[in-house]
Amino acid sequence: MIKNIITYMKLDEKFKCQKCAKCCSALQLEDEAGLFPGYFNSAYILQCCKPSLTLFDWEAKEMAEEAEKEGINFKLIPYKLVYDTKTKTAIILQYVLAHNVCPFLKFNACSIYEKRPSICKLFPPNARGITSGTITLNRSSCPYDLKEKDWEEVINLNLQPKEMIRKIHERYGEIFEAEVEYEIMSKQITDWVNLLILKGIISPAKGFEPKVLLKMASEAQIVPLSMFFKGMVPQKAEEAEKVIEDARQLVHGKKFLEDAKK
Ligand code: SF4
Ligand code: SF4
Repeated sequence: MIKNIITYMKLDEKFKCQKCAKCCSALQLEDEAGLFPGYFNSAYILQCCKPSLTLFDWEAKEMAEEAEKEGINFKLIPYKLVYDTKTKTAIILQYVLAHNVCPFLKFNACSIYEKRPSICKLFPPNARGITSGTITLNRSSCPYDLKEKDWEEVINLNLQPKEMIRKIHERYGEIFEAEVEYEIMSKQITDWVNLLILKGIISPAKGFEPKVLLKMASEAQIVPLSMFFKGMVPQKAEEAEKVIEDARQLVHGKKFLEDAKK
């Protein structure tokens, strides 16, 4: 009982970033090359290179523009893509930053803080399945956040999903809203691809060996998903633009959390 109260109190403490910049300077994870058949109605997703910051295509574009403006060496790699056999196009769903130390980190601070991508806004909590109601919590690498043991104790509290969401939102505030936003936008890009398939606009490659598919994609015309979607489904272009603009402001994440706590 007392242990539960102590755990609950730990969750009560508001997270305060100590600005150590660890999360901006050790970005790359282990190599994760792979092929994921069966996603998108039997389309394929490829993942290649050591993942670090995963960026939605509009974020990648904005960061590239900032880098050019400031003369910063900045490299991106297509991270998740669908190869379309109809248009012979590699449609990029997400990019990954090909740096272990973020090139926008200057004097231990983010030089594009107001324009930083969603993946940066959502650190450090490591929650998944928030929108689907199957919440899992994992330790993050932030040295100033709760430790693995703390999260295990939080899970053992067996809080109702609504209460868990409320507590985590109180602890992390806008950071948690960004985490939910990221989850919603990840689903959104899946929905856009599925709509392209449903309308018969694209026909994703299937039945290829991963290496062959990667080679085809690397030789193909490369198009970011949101640009491709808006061009191919013009009647949805305005709507898609609004979704992206709202995502920048965390509108969907905030709304989801408000509704979830009712
Ligand atoms: S590692 Fe944690 S404390 Fe350090 S800058 Fe990132 S979020 Fe803040
Ligand atoms: S964009 Fe800014 S917040 Fe994100 S990793 Fe780079 S320096 Fe850190």
